[in-house]
Amino acid sequence: MLTQRPKGTNDFLPQETWKWQYVEQILREVCRQYGYGELRTPIFEHTELFQRGVGETTDIVEKEMYTFLDKGGRSVTLRPEGTAAAARAYLENRLHAGPQPVKVYYIGPMFRYDKPQAGRYRQFHQFGVEVFGSDEPVVDAEVIAMAMEIYRRLGIKDLELNINSVGCPVCRARHREALQEFLRPQLASLCKDCQSRFERNPLRILDCKQEGCQAATRGAPTITRQLCPDCKDHFDQVQTLLKALGVPFTVNERLVRGLDYYTKTAFEIMVKDIGAQSSICGGGRYNGLVGELGGEDVPGIGFALGLERTILTMEKQGVAWPEEAGTRVFVAVLGTEAREQALVLTQQLRSRGLAAETDLLGRSLKAQLKQADRLKVSYTVIVGGDELQRGEVQLRSMSDSSQQALKLEQVVDYLTEKLKS
Ligand SMILES: [Zn+2]
Ligand SMILES: [Zn+2]
Repeated sequence: MLTQRPKGTNDFLPQETWKWQYVEQILREVCRQYGYGELRTPIFEHTELFQRGVGETTDIVEKEMYTFLDKGGRSVTLRPEGTAAAARAYLENRLHAGPQPVKVYYIGPMFRYDKPQAGRYRQFHQFGVEVFGSDEPVVDAEVIAMAMEIYRRLGIKDLELNINSVGCPVCRARHREALQEFLRPQLASLCKDCQSRFERNPLRILDCKQEGCQAATRGAPTITRQLCPDCKDHFDQVQTLLKALGVPFTVNERLVRGLDYYTKTAFEIMVKDIGAQSSICGGGRYNGLVGELGGEDVPGIGFALGLERTILTMEKQGVAWPEEAGTRVFVAVLGTEAREQALVLTQQLRSRGLAAETDLLGRSLKAQLKQADRLKVSYTVIVGGDELQRGEVQLRSMSDSSQQALKLEQVVDYLTEKLKS
């Protein structure tokens, strides 16, 4: 137990965290350019927030939440997703009273008690954006285009953008009835989950991956064809704007989101994955969410993507990672009396902004030079011996193995000059 992490969690070692940092840096940079500020909310919230904000009928709330009582007997839950907390923070901090729209992003760990399987973790990491306070189709287009731009910058290819409109409470009530009417004769052929969804949430049956349910819903009435004039106009405008931005998309009438507070635009980005396609990013409008949490009705839209999945896709697609910026200078110690001078020199190089290392194990010069090779440094400074008596050091350029003597007091300036350009 002591040397084993909990099931479904991960250690990220230095050999791979630099890739995470690279991806996060691109995400933050895109957000800055699109005018999104970072929102940091707690890792845990009152359980009620997710019951309300994610939805009682979802798998997340029904089966997957890390919920526990704290010492005060309050039920708290490790956040399973980011949107509910963002909406809570928007209300609690009275962001609705300030200039609209409010555009935020988040990056961080999420928790779901899921069956651990390849690429699925109980602690996983998500990035997402949320926009509160505008129902204009231009926001939908901006948010979708931003998601696609993120993948472009990460170098991920073979994407397909699916969009749909799931309507509003007005058009959805009509669709719900039509759908139930269509499915009623086939109720027995639906999976157990879908049978219980039939009354509570029939729309989600369209989204079920079970073969029987897929067959039963073939030809079912879609919400897309029953949109009210307002929703239809909104959807048309989103499509027009995406075309103007040169973002290719497919209208997928089976793309639905099961909860009542989801409205209008829904979208999903698929990536080709060894023959099949799988979802890499999902998002949409949720004009009913803030109201569901007890605020006034405030329109909202956002998307979320998983970082594990994103990085896995980049690796599968052989994306060119940037060179990792490693150590540039190794300060080797010749004789123990040079130890102090070597450490001081290393520190001086670092204070000039150079990545420098020195020996920390009292190794032989030969072993130290081997380490310098392994670190792929550009220069090795050898401190000690007769040279140090004369106030000099040996500087070895690792690219051509040339070596020269330099005055000790010049070496920091010399290396700064050489390596900073
Ligand atoms: Zn509508
Ligand atoms: Zn089903």
